[in-house]
Amino acid sequence: VDRMFLHQRMPGGAVFKISVVYDTAFWRADGLCGQSAAPGSPATLTIDACTDTGVPGIMCVITEGSAARRLGRLDAAERRAVVIGELVERFGAKAASPVSYHEQNWAVERYSGGGMISHAPPGVLTEFGHALRTPCGRIHWAGTESSAIMCGWIDGAVRSGERAAAEVMAADSVVAA
Ligand SMILES: Cc1cc2nc3c(=O)[nH]c(=O)nc-3n(C[C@H](O)[C@H](O)[C@H](O)COP(=O)(O)OP(=O)(O)OC[C@H]3O[C@@H](n4cnc5c(N)ncnc54)[C@H](O)[C@@H]3O)c2cc1C
Repeated sequence: VDRMFLHQRMPGGAVFKISVVYDTAFWRADGLCGQSAAPGSPATLTIDACTDTGVPGIMCVITEGSAARRLGRLDAAERRAVVIGELVERFGAKAASPVSYHEQNWAVERYSGGGMISHAPPGVLTEFGHALRTPCGRIHWAGTESSAIMCGWIDGAVRSGERAAAEVMAADSVVAA
């Protein structure tokens, strides 16, 4: 029951992922790493998403929660303008002229219905958090939300898979013994 209720109470949230593409990663030349966070802004997070060469320059923008829902109400041209405006404010005038702009609103994706990092509203972890990693009989739980490190990200998913596999192998060896 606790595991089932935990599942029911940890939904995905509203997330936009946006890639703004430039000829080069001009921010690197300015001595900036490209990472920024501004909670509640139309560009909540920015992350340098280029390869080592910095060509092309790709700035990944992740906008989450209520800011993502507000962004979703704008039309495409307005959205692009406010997001690029945020980048200009943080990284200067060169950010105003991307060569292309790609966006994905995960909240309206038919099979996803929301984006990464399931969140636990108040009381959920207190009441049901103990069920995150506890096996239910022979069922062992992997999944990024069960990871103590990088919960919600690929890194956490891989760690949780390794932990669950180790649990299963240990349980198996107990049976074999
Ligand atoms: C929009 C979005 C953007 C993201 N961006 C990033 C990013 O930039 N960097 C990053 O590190 N992480 C990112 N993530 C997070 C990352 O993708 C997840 O943390 C990771 O994929 C979770 O892995 P998982 O194995 O826990 O679960 P999942 O990848 O969700 O795997 C669960 C699998 O179980 C299957 N399944 C479900 N129910 C059943 C069933 N009853 N029977 C059989 N199979 C079933 C599903 O089909 C799915 O294949 C993003 C996620 C989203 C949604």
